[in-house]
Amino acid sequence: MHCPFCGEADTKVIDSRLVAEGDQVRRRRECFTCRERFTTFETAELVMPRVVKQDGTRQPFDEEKLRSGLMKALEKRPVSIEEIDAALNRINYRLRAAGEREVKSMQLGEEVMTELRQLDKVAYVRFASVYRSFQDINEFKDEIERLSATNGEAAADMAKALAENHTSEGKK
Ligand SMILES: [Zn+2]
Repeated sequence: MHCPFCGEADTKVIDSRLVAEGDQVRRRRECFTCRERFTTFETAELVMPRVVKQDGTRQPFDEEKLRSGLMKALEKRPVSIEEIDAALNRINYRLRAAGEREVKSMQLGEEVMTELRQLDKVAYVRFASVYRSFQDINEFKDEIERLSATNGEAAADMAKALAENHTSEGKK
């Protein structure tokens, strides 16, 4: 750590202790060159990024909102709460690991879609068709076709979900 007084690259730690009930490390440092002393605090960066909405406004990250989005898409689908929690944890982990201070709401939606795609194709289509508008409706049609080759029932459910969303969207 550089000396804030003279810019010297090398400073030495002369004292180090845990503060804030062990969540923080306080270090006293001394500069090799100018002998000034200064204090640094080290904490783990675990804050979630702020969410940037499409209109540019910022909101605090809201895990409950993310959860309710997932739950809504997974309504009456054979997916357990444990699986939903695990999906949420993976999203949170990826957001923290990215270390960005802000994340676009679009990107959050993509994260949710990534998880839903693995969890349940019908829920994926429900979420994606509302979320992405209908520009890429062909993409969902491809998905349904791919699925109908292996699982006709699921493909029919998915087509139904897509049709339902399409009508409800049209009414707005
Ligand atoms: Zn110095």
